[in-house]
Amino acid sequence: MLEKFERYPLTFGPTHIEKLERLSQHLGGKVELYAKREDCNSGLAFGGNKLRKLEYIVPDAIASNADTLVSIGGVQSNHTRMVAAVAAKIGMKCRLVQESWVPHEDAIYDRVGNILLSRVMGADVRLVDEGFDIGIRQSWEEAIADVKAKGGKPYAIPAGASVHKYGGLGYVGFAEEVRAQEKELGFAFDYIVVCTVTGSTHAGMLVGFAKDGRERKVIGIDASFTPDQTKAQVLDIARNTAALVELGREIVEDDVVLIEDYAYPAYGVPSEATKEAIRLCARLEGMITDPVYEGKSMQGMIDLVNKGYFPAGSKVLYAHLGGAPAINGYAYTFRNG
Ligand SMILES: *Cc1c(COP(=O)(O)O)cnc(C)c1O
Repeated sequence: MLEKFERYPLTFGPTHIEKLERLSQHLGGKVELYAKREDCNSGLAFGGNKLRKLEYIVPDAIASNADTLVSIGGVQSNHTRMVAAVAAKIGMKCRLVQESWVPHEDAIYDRVGNILLSRVMGADVRLVDEGFDIGIRQSWEEAIADVKAKGGKPYAIPAGASVHKYGGLGYVGFAEEVRAQEKELGFAFDYIVVCTVTGSTHAGMLVGFAKDGRERKVIGIDASFTPDQTKAQVLDIARNTAALVELGREIVEDDVVLIEDYAYPAYGVPSEATKEAIRLCARLEGMITDPVYEGKSMQGMIDLVNKGYFPAGSKVLYAHLGGAPAINGYAYTFRNG
């Protein structure tokens, strides 16, 4: 589906799929859980889902003759860390706007984890006081204008690399990769579980899996806590991406399956159940999930298994999208494990 698009390789290649044997057994053994390790997809600053998206955006950035990548996210944004890594790798400068998306008061929150890595990689990191919003932000527009005013040539990448014309392509590729891996495994997955916030990961998967009729088997777990906006953004990106790849069919609202029950109490703030899910997965599988994103989708998947959402015998693929560095910002939360 992606042959006609230019791709700048930033990842190692197809990501590993592993069975979560002990977690599956712990939850009763009726459903088989697997993880596709997007969190281990690259040697660039700990990797993660944003790199798959950026592979299709970087050729456009290079072609535009830019010298500075400009992007935006929360203080512990994985996305801005990935943009900083890519800028270093392709020899560009990087300007990052880090907004106060998380009402978090850990004293080291703006010193460790993702933001530390972005600083080490040489990005010009600016903290601003705006709250959570997945849309286009004034602070980002101002950063772009500021780079220009200083004689630079900015290339703008929106939050999560989502609302970009090529933002959905990377995860169309994920679906194609899964199909190829299913041939080798000798079975197909019944469900794909994915954490959804700015939307292009879910949207790309939806378009990619629509090719074999599985679009409604992509189960998005909302972690934004603004699910209406997130759902609308997924639909929008999916429609644009479907047109780009010439899917040949319409994506409709009901194709976007987004479960809203696990994002509480706020974006970036883990509930007790999220913390329990993080510990359970770490203690049974040695697999680290974070309090902002993957901990919530892990919590969601565990709860859905317990509730019998997946029929007995189902094979469920958990897309592990990365994000582990953010857990350093929650040192106090996990001070006793
Ligand atoms: C960005 C991110 C997500 C959400 O992906 P979107 O495409 O923004 O919906 C989930 N998990 C991790 C670790 C992320 O960095």
